[in-house]
Amino acid sequence: LALERAQVLSDLAQQRDALSEANRNLERSNADLDRFAAIASHDLKAPIRAVTSFSELLSARYAPQLAGRGLTYLEQIRSNGYHMQRLVDDLLLYSRAAATDPVFTDVDVSALMREVLTRLDPDLQAAQAQVTATDLPVVWGDAAQLDRLLQNLIGNALKYRRAEPPRVQVRAHTQPDGSCQFDVQDNGQGIDPEYHQRIFQLFTRLHHRDVEGTGLGLAICQRIVEHHGGRLWVQSVPGEGSTFSFTLPGRPHTHSDA
Ligand code: ADP
Repeated sequence: LALERAQVLSDLAQQRDALSEANRNLERSNADLDRFAAIASHDLKAPIRAVTSFSELLSARYAPQLAGRGLTYLEQIRSNGYHMQRLVDDLLLYSRAAATDPVFTDVDVSALMREVLTRLDPDLQAAQAQVTATDLPVVWGDAAQLDRLLQNLIGNALKYRRAEPPRVQVRAHTQPDGSCQFDVQDNGQGIDPEYHQRIFQLFTRLHHRDVEGTGLGLAICQRIVEHHGGRLWVQSVPGEGSTFSFTLPGRPHTHSDA
């Protein structure tokens, strides 16, 4: 019996070593992928800007000379150029979200929301959206990253709207342990349960050919929340709406707090 036990223990130890080796390899290839994404997107920025700005120039100066099909082709070049630009910007954000540690400070989420809403204002106006936010707390986090997180979630709530006007509610509840849960609730198209996990993966888009997007927004959100030590998930009923929730741990206590 003792021999068998020793054998089982040694097998377990071998499996554990193999698992940690696999884990290390995975981390290495993730880091390689992030480096590749960062370098590729950085190097693609300038040529893509050339495509968009020259096509803007062409349509501003030479539109009258470009009859019919010429104008259609130009419009295609321009809109694909903008799409590539967004893709590259999001890829850079995605790889940076892993490469740079959050800079933690006290962040007033009400003030952050005002900034996000000001930036989204043209979209809000166009959709005649009603966005409400109440009692948002001060949290311990990276202001720029939390700004991006809220912007992506509220931006999606507007993009994937169903009822007009779209309604978005942002709520927060602080837990006794100091952590905070945020809910961003919309009355939009909703998401089929089979996609509730997959939408957080890179490049997942669900049948929205007519809506602009890169499929990177939620993957960026996920990285940001994980880097803060929190969790991000969705609850959603197709045809009724979605609630994206995330948690942020409380401010760690330091000696100077005492
Ligand atoms: P993108 O919006 O650029 O496509 P995201 O990563 O932000 O990429 O979202 C992935 C997919 O998840 C979207 O294409 C959409 O199908 C779905 N989705 C995200 N947010 C919502 C929402 N609030 N309501 C319905 N569907 C959503």
